[in-house]
Amino acid sequence: MAHPVIDTDECIACGVCVDACPADVLTLGDEHAEVSDGDSCVACGSCMEACPAGAITEIAED
Ligand code: SF4
Ligand code: SF4
Repeated sequence: MAHPVIDTDECIACGVCVDACPADVLTLGDEHAEVSDGDSCVACGSCMEACPAGAITEIAED
């Protein structure tokens, strides 16, 4: 199972990754993006590529 790893200290809560994800894995919380549906992640890397803050550090495989 894959899921993005979000560095919450670097995240600026812009929401770009939420829009970039084709599988609705991410949602935007008050202070940072959150993985709300990790089971749906297809490990495409779009969120990591789109993040302007470099806050998504890896697509981890469990
Ligand atoms: S790797 Fe792809 S499917 Fe997984 S959270 Fe990022 S954009 Fe969504
Ligand atoms: S794109 Fe990056 S900075 Fe913006 S909400 Fe997502 S993880 Fe945070």
